[in-house]
Amino acid sequence: MVYSARMMALLLAVFIALVTVLFLSLVQSVDRYGLIVAGVISFSGSYLLIYVVLEFLVFREINKIYKMLEKLRKKELSGIKREKSGALNPLKNINEEIYSFALLKQKEIDELKKLEAFRKEFIADVSHELKTPIFAAQGFVHTLLDGAVNDKHVRNRFLKKAAKSLDGLDVLVQDLLTLSQIETGDIKMKFEPLDLFKLCSEVIDQFEEKSEKKNIKLKLINPEHKLTVYADWQRITQVVTNLVSNAINYTTEGGEVVVAFDVGKKNVTAFISDTGEGIPQQHLTRIFERFYRVDKSRSREKGGTGLGLAIVKHILEGHGSRAEVESHVGKGSTFSFKLPRSKGDDEKE
Ligand code: ADP
Repeated sequence: MVYSARMMALLLAVFIALVTVLFLSLVQSVDRYGLIVAGVISFSGSYLLIYVVLEFLVFREINKIYKMLEKLRKKELSGIKREKSGALNPLKNINEEIYSFALLKQKEIDELKKLEAFRKEFIADVSHELKTPIFAAQGFVHTLLDGAVNDKHVRNRFLKKAAKSLDGLDVLVQDLLTLSQIETGDIKMKFEPLDLFKLCSEVIDQFEEKSEKKNIKLKLINPEHKLTVYADWQRITQVVTNLVSNAINYTTEGGEVVVAFDVGKKNVTAFISDTGEGIPQQHLTRIFERFYRVDKSRSREKGGTGLGLAIVKHILEGHGSRAEVESHVGKGSTFSFKLPRSKGDDEKE
C-alpha cells in the first residue's frame, strides 16, 4: 500500500510539473532555464505534498485497523464504532470487512458457547432423571436378593415397585426419544385435514378409567361447527393426551376437566381446563422447558417425566402454533392452542 501511495504521488507530481511547464512555456518571458527550475520546483513540491497527504491517510486508516484488532483481542467488540464505507478508500473498506467478519465470528462463538452450556445442562438433567428410577429398581432388587425374596408378601410388593420404576424409566426414554426426534427433524409432520373433535373424543375415551378412579368429571363440549383443521393427527393426539393427562394429574378428587373449542374465521382454538391446584405466576413461563416442574416430588409421584409440556411446545411449533396457559393457584388452569382451519371447511358448517 505504501508503495502504491508513493507511485501515485510520483505520477501526480510528474503530471503537475508537466502542466506547470506547459503553461509557463506559453508565457514568452520565461526562458528555458526558468522552465526547468519551475518544473523541478513544482515536481518536488507537489510530490512531497501529495506523498505526505497520502501517507497521512494511509497511516490513519492502518492505525484504526490496529486499534480495532486490539479491541477484538480484548473482546471489546461492542466498543468498536462501525463506519460507513468510503468506497474510494480501500483501507476503509478493509476495515469494515474485518469488523463485519469479526462480528459474525463472535456471534457464532457466542451461539456455540450457549449450545455447549445447554448440552451440558441437558446431559446432567437426563442423567439425574434416569438415575432416579434405576436406583429405585436397583434398591428393590437388591433387597429381594438379600433375603426378602423368601417372604411372599414382601416379594410381591417389592417386585411391583421395581416394575413400576422400570415402567417409569420406559416412559421417560420414550419421551426423550420423541423430543429428540422432533428437534432433529427425524419426525416429519404429516399434515392433513382432520376432525379435531373426533381426535379429542378418542383421547378422552382413553382417560375415562383414570378420571373415574379419581372421581374427576371429564367433559368434552360438542362444538356447533365442524372442526376440520389442517394438522398432523398423531402429533396433535400426543398434544391433547399430554394436556389432558396433566389436567387429571394435577386436579384433586372431585374436580373437573373440560375440553372445549372456539371456532374463529381462520383458526380453531382448543381449551383444556381443570379445577386443579393451579400454577404460580412465576412458573408459567418456565413450565414448557424440559424437566421443569413446579413441584418435583409431586410430579414424579404422579409418574411425570417433566417432558410432557416440552413435547407439546415442540409439536405446536411444528404446526406454526404455540400453547398458551392461564392459571390461578387453588382455582385451576386452562391450556389452549390454535390450529388453522382446513380450506373448504366453511362449506361443511
Ligand atoms: P410432568 O411430567 O412433571 O407433568 P410436564 O412437562 O407435563 O411435566 O409439566 C411440567 C410442570 O408443569 C409439571 O411438573 C407441573 O408442575 C406443571 N403443570 C403442568 N400442567 C399442569 C396443570 N394442568 N395444573 C397444574 N400444574 C401443571
